[in-house]
Order: sequence, then C-alpha cells, then structure tokens
Amino acid sequence: MDYKETLNLPKTDFPMKANLALREPEMLARWEAMRIYDRIRLDAKGRTPYILHDGPPYANGSIHLGTALNKIIKDILVKAKNMAGHDSVYVPGWDCHGLPIEHRVDKELGDKKAAISQNEKRRSCRIYAEKYLDIQREQFKRLGVFGDWEHPYLTMTYDYEAATVEEFGKLYLNGSVYKGKKPVYWCASCKTALAEAEVEYRDHRAPSIYVKFLFISDVSERVPKLAGERVSVAIWTTTPWTIPANLAVALHEEFLYAAVKIQGEVLIVARELLDRCLDAFGIANEPYEIVAEFHGAALEGLKCRHPLAERESLLLLAPFVTLDAGTGCVHIAPGHGQEDYETGMKHGLDNYAPVDDDGCFTKDVKDFAGRFVFAANDAIIAKLKETGALLGQAELQHTYPHCWRCKQPIIFRSTEQWFISMEKNNLRKKALQAIDGVTWIPAWGRDRIRGMVENRPDWCISRQRLWGVPITMFYCKACESELMTQEILGHVVGLVRERGADVWFDQNPGDLIPAGTRCPKCGAEDFEKETDILDVWFDSGVSHAAVLEQRDGLVSPCDMYLEGNDQHRGWFHSSLLESVGTRGRAPYRNVLTHGFVVDGEGKKMSKSLGNVIESQTIIDQYGAEILRLWVAAEDYTEDIRVSEEILKRLVEAYRRIRNTSRFILGNLYDFDPAKDALPYAERLEMDHWILHRLQEVIRRVREAYEQYQFHMVYYTIYNFCTVDLSSLYLDVLKDRLYTSQAGSLARRSAQATMWEILTAMAQLLAPILTFTAEEVWQAMPATLDKAESVHLAQFPEVDAARVQPELAEKWKTLIALKSEAAKAIETARQSKVVGHSLDADVTLAAPEQLRSLLETHREDLRALLIVSAVRIVDGPLASAPYLSSEIPGLAVAVERAPGEKCHRCWIYSETTGKNPTHPTLCQRCLDAL
Ligand SMILES: [Zn+2]
Ligand SMILES: [Zn+2]
Ligand SMILES: [Zn+2]
Repeated sequence: MDYKETLNLPKTDFPMKANLALREPEMLARWEAMRIYDRIRLDAKGRTPYILHDGPPYANGSIHLGTALNKIIKDILVKAKNMAGHDSVYVPGWDCHGLPIEHRVDKELGDKKAAISQNEKRRSCRIYAEKYLDIQREQFKRLGVFGDWEHPYLTMTYDYEAATVEEFGKLYLNGSVYKGKKPVYWCASCKTALAEAEVEYRDHRAPSIYVKFLFISDVSERVPKLAGERVSVAIWTTTPWTIPANLAVALHEEFLYAAVKIQGEVLIVARELLDRCLDAFGIANEPYEIVAEFHGAALEGLKCRHPLAERESLLLLAPFVTLDAGTGCVHIAPGHGQEDYETGMKHGLDNYAPVDDDGCFTKDVKDFAGRFVFAANDAIIAKLKETGALLGQAELQHTYPHCWRCKQPIIFRSTEQWFISMEKNNLRKKALQAIDGVTWIPAWGRDRIRGMVENRPDWCISRQRLWGVPITMFYCKACESELMTQEILGHVVGLVRERGADVWFDQNPGDLIPAGTRCPKCGAEDFEKETDILDVWFDSGVSHAAVLEQRDGLVSPCDMYLEGNDQHRGWFHSSLLESVGTRGRAPYRNVLTHGFVVDGEGKKMSKSLGNVIESQTIIDQYGAEILRLWVAAEDYTEDIRVSEEILKRLVEAYRRIRNTSRFILGNLYDFDPAKDALPYAERLEMDHWILHRLQEVIRRVREAYEQYQFHMVYYTIYNFCTVDLSSLYLDVLKDRLYTSQAGSLARRSAQATMWEILTAMAQLLAPILTFTAEEVWQAMPATLDKAESVHLAQFPEVDAARVQPELAEKWKTLIALKSEAAKAIETARQSKVVGHSLDADVTLAAPEQLRSLLETHREDLRALLIVSAVRIVDGPLASAPYLSSEIPGLAVAVERAPGEKCHRCWIYSETTGKNPTHPTLCQRCLDAL
C-alpha cells in the first residue's frame, strides 16, 4: 500500500520561479489601482512625521544605475520609516533649468536658434525638460519606488520660480549679495561662468615656460652686491596666455633666494631650486657665480618691467609660494586666478583680465587681440623669445579644470558677476556652526563639508544664459545704481507666480516695476533690468523654501537629505548656504551620503572602458527586485560594486529566501490562523526556540533600519533564512509536518510558528524586496486583521514574553550537539553502516550535567538529529565512538537502527510490522492515521 496519500505534503500555488521581469509590472498595476501611496498616507495620519527631502535629479536623459541606487535607498528608508510607525512622505523632485538642457535645445534648433525669441527658446527648454521628467518618472516607478508621483516638485513651475526669485531678493535685501568683478571659472565654448560643482579635473597637456622679468628698480639698494648688474627675476607658468595680464611677481617672505650671475646677467630664483632651474633653462653647463643670497622679504615692493607690455610688474610677498616646482617666484595675474586675485586685492592691484566671453584677447592686448587664448599660447611664447624674455620651454601633462558639459578646458577669468558673500553677514561662520548641529552619516561627511565651506570663495550665482530663473534686479538708467526694495520684490514675485519667470524676459522694465517707482538716488523713472540668470545650484538650493516650507505635511528643517557623496560640494552645500543666509540655520537635521557605482574590480564605470551596466538591463534580465536586493546588500557608504558575478550571487540569495518562503507557504495550505493557531504557551519547545530567534532577528533588523544599515537588514534576514530556518528548523520540522495527524498539536504548533515567522519576514523585508514580500503576503492565509498589502502593515514588535534566553542557551547546546552527531553519522555513512540519517540509531555518552539536559530532551533530540532513535548512556561507549573535540566529554556512537523501516515515515522501529492490517507501518504512523 502507498501511504504517500496519507502524508500532509506541502501544497502551494506560490511559484518556485520568480519570473520577476514579467510579474513586477502586474504588481505595479495592482498597487496603482489600489492607490497604495495614498493608502499608506491615510493610514499614517497622526503618526510622528519623518521627512526625507528628495534631491532633484536633472531632467535630462534616462536614469542610470547610480540614479536608480539613490532612489532605491531613499525608498527603502521611507518605507521602513512608515512601517516603523512614522508618517513618512516622499515628494520626488526634478531640477529642470540649466545649461545641459539649453545646450540640447540649441542643438535641436540649429540655425533657427538665432531667429526665435528668448521666450520661444525657453518654451522649447520647458518641453524638453517635461519630456525627460516623464520618462524618468516611469523609470523610477518601475523600480517599485512609492511616492507622490502625480505631484512632484519641479524647479520650473511658476510657484517654484517665484520662490527662487523671492529667496534671491531676501539675500539681496539683507546685504549678502553683491555685484563684483572677480575671477570665475569660465567656459569659453559654453560662454558662461561655471560653479565649482560644474568643473571636472582632467589631464591636459600644457606648455611650461620660464620667463624673466627685468628689474626697473635699483636692486642694489636692497642687495648692494648687485650694483651695476643687469638683474631679472625668473618666473614659471603653464598658462602663457595669462602673461599679458601679469601685474606682479610673488616671492615667499622666508625662502632663501639666490642671485646667480650667468652668461653676463643676473637671474634670481629660489636657492633650493637653482640646479633644477638652470637645467630647465638649458644652461646647466655654463659657468656661474652666486653673487648674493637673501630672503624673499628683501625684494618686496621693487618693480620689474612687463616682458611684453609697457607696464610695471610689482614684486610682492605671498604665503602660497612653494618650492614644489618652478622657480620660487610666482607670476601673478589677478584677473585670472583665485589666489592671484586675493593677493592683488591686498596690494591694490587691478582685476585685469583682457579676455572676452569667447575666450579671446580684447583689443587691449597688442599683437594678440581677437585670438583665442589657448591658441595664442605659441604666439606668446614666440614673442617672449623674440624679446629675449624666454628662459626655457617644455611641455607638461597636468590635471586642469574642464567644463562638465562640453569637456573643454576652461579658463579663470575676471568678469562682472553676482556673488553671495561668505563674509558680509558672517555666512561662512554661521554655516560652519550650522554644520556642527547636523548629524552627518557617515561621520566624515562633516569634515568634508566643513573643509569646503571653510575654504570656498564667495558664491558666484550669475550665469549669462537663458534657461533659468532671472536675477531680478533693476538699474537706474540715469545714475546706474541698483534698485531693489521689499515692495519691488513683492511685486516681481507676484508677477512670476502668476506668469512664470518668462515674464521677466518678455516685459519691459517699466512693466515689471511697480508704477510710479523713482530712483531713490536721482529721482529718475527710467530703468533697465538685469539679463543674467541664476546658477541652477541656487534653484535647487532653495527647495527647502519652495517645497519644504510650502507643502502641507512638509517642514524645514526636515529629517533627512540623502544623496551621493559628491553633493557635499553640490546640493547639501548650496542648500546649507541659502538656508543659513536667509534663516540662520541648516534645512536638514541629518545628511546621509552614499558612494558611487563601480564595476566588480572597483573601477569607475565609463563608456570608454566598456564596463557600464545599465539599470534597465538588470531590470529586463532579473527584475527590479534584484536591483533592490543589490542596493540593500552592499554597504553603500563605500563605493558600490556591481558585476555579472555579484548579480548572479544575489539571484542565488534571492532564490533561497524565496524558496524558504515557499516551503512555509506550502505547509500552511490547511492552516486557518483564526481556528488553528495554537496559543504560544501550548507549543513545542523547539518552536519556542525559533520564536526566540525570531525576536532577536526583529530587534536586529529594526535597529539596522533605524541606523540606515540596510546591508545588516539583508544579512540578518538572509542568515536567519538559510542557517536557522532552511538548514535547521524547517528541515527538522518536515517529519512533524508531514507525518503527524493534520490537526495534531505537534503540527499545529509548527504551523502557527511558521505562519508567525513568515508574517514577520514579509514585513521586515517589504522595504527591500518590495515585490516579493507582497507576493508572499498575498499568498498567506487570510485573517480578519490582515492588511490588504504588506506595505500597509507595520513592522513586528519584539515580544518580550517570547524572549527566552535560558531556553535559547539550552537549544544552543542541543544544536551544537547536532552538528557533532552529524559528523559521527557522516563517518558511519562513509563506512556504509547507514545510508540516510534516518537509518541511524545514535548513542550519546556525556558528562553528568549535559546528560540530564539530553535526557529531558530525548524526543527533541531524535527529531533534531533526524535519526530513528537516540539513546543516552552513563559511562563509556562500547563500539567505535566519535569523541567530540567541541563538547568536552561527549562521545557519539552510530549503529544501524534495529527494527523495521516504516513505509510512511521512514523511521525504523520495533513497532513496525506488529499491525496485521498495516504491516509496514510504525505505531506512531498508525496513531496518526
Ligand atoms: Zn563648456
Ligand atoms: Zn538714479
Ligand atoms: Zn511511521
């Protein structure tokens, strides 16, 4: 007779194969239909808010793996907060203005570009941004990210633009903003100033030249030994095109300089660099004499002649002069460098930059006017040679700033720009204080942003482009003074809120300024408007004002800003300065950063290396769930690796979690929680043990979520699944589940326990395995209080009554004993004493204390060891014992179990064969039938 029919074998529709790429879209449609995000919001009403403010991605192109990673981390956090008892909203945002879109639109417009109006072009930019934000929105939703996708914030909506105008006005009116001539990063091909964050450092070949500046002053007044000599100071530069703008030469006050007589003239260089310099000048073999040595301070205030122009060059002292390279005498062009500018300011030098927007010399520069600066390098070198000023020349490979958009090398150029001063209202000091009040995760983020704020120059906020928010400033036509008041600001903000920033471009100044406005200085009534627009980093930097302070349910400061760790320089930074500059505090309480996606070897992904993995490829091949698992499994505070191999490993891990869930579901087919859930107190001891373990898992996982350590969430659950459940608890349970009477206490105890475990696991995994947790949830037995979606459930709480450390300690010993016994059984299997472990009869000899534990758990042990019988003896074992090295005094003997094998449960027993109707069954099975 076949007794298979009498076993309670698992039954489930839950598929083994996940088929994620196919099933996920169905799940998304279901959530959309039930309006899952709104439902979560509704349930969360009244709970403590937790506000993560989305950093807006740029509305251009498709999302890449890094963007997907960022959105998934945010989604895990928001979902976890909601399930941990918070009210956590997620309002996604997009950054819509700026050069990249304007570039694309320029390209698409081609020749038509010149013929259309400013606002026609702005309209094209708006349409372009709308198109890509729609594309990206669908891509983000596909990842399983929940949020208010129908009402995102966009930096180009009228109300956002109005808020941006208002924030600029606030800063202007409180005296933080000024217009000044200052060197800024300038891209000549994009014809715009660039922000710090828009500059990339890349390798660049540059000419390296040495030039002498002949003294006009009588040097012998300071260094008498140089009387009667023709004396020059030697400088070094890698930007020959800045020589026409040279106004000074800087020395270090304390460095020792040498005046060297060589080939009939005297050259001054740093003493320490003398040999290297002579080598570089190609005169290392010439006889020379050091006429004098002196400190840099000796030459301060003397004057040289400019090598190309009819002009003086001032000898001054500067602390940034080093002996790393060059001559120790530094060429200073205040219009073309930050340090040069600061030094020039100190010495009353002009901000001279004879270069126009196209990067060409102005007519001020004789011989080179109209020439592009990089192209003029050679001609300048030739001219220096001709005048005899060139000492040496070479080529150099160095890192040089490039434009992030067009990838061209940029220049530093002094122009009229708008700035937010770091000093005027103590912005730097206040920002540093605000940084200390924020929690930075990881902690090094604090030092990083501190260092940047400590050293940054004033924030250049003006751009000479079209697609952005205008700098709303009026000028008096008669006296040229700036005009902005609270009243004018309010008027302009109102216009922008109503008609968008376009209003600034298509209206005359007279229509933008309140009627009857007069210049307070000269009384004139005729005005001009500013044509520059704001830096896009200013746009996104005001999101705390435009979004957090405006929307219902949001507030500034919020709980969390969460972006890649390049944003210490970008969005965290601009948001901080804007908020501190207008509100005196940071807009966030916590800032969490993640690293960047790199390949399996830790290399940056790039098209040229051919190692780019697209998020869409992963979704198509494995499903978004695997992408989500990858995000959770990696420690994102470092750079995050991805490769085929890593993904395959995750797919395998996913399968194990899925199969564990499936096994449990299969054994709950006849379990109705309302009727069959055996009370905790009546359950078997092993079930109490696994429920104790579950409490530990709940505690650890909830802590890990609380600390944003999602990889700890993953590993804790994964280990629980594979180690505790799959290879131990569930394996042992099979006999009890399959062979016991369906409604028996033993089986119901196991079912109730498994049901609770799977419920908790689905809840704990839901923020990460958003799709699979839901699939499991839907397959779980229904109860009256079961939420319609796992995402509407809350995390399980640790049940203190089920935390049983003493019981856990006992079971730790029993499980350790199981692994020792397994070794003995394995030896017996190899010597063909037994085949399956159920063939075994195990005899244990143990010291007194352990023995009493074993004796009270003899039946548990038989089940735990998955053998036919366990005997516990006092004293030495007769035959071939296995002596444990792990548990002192434990000896294990394995023999073939006596009696007959039961055809139903495969356990050997003396009782098998005693029943005439069922001669192949054991008594246990007979009782069960
Ligand atoms: Zn450029
Ligand atoms: Zn005036
Ligand atoms: Zn049996």
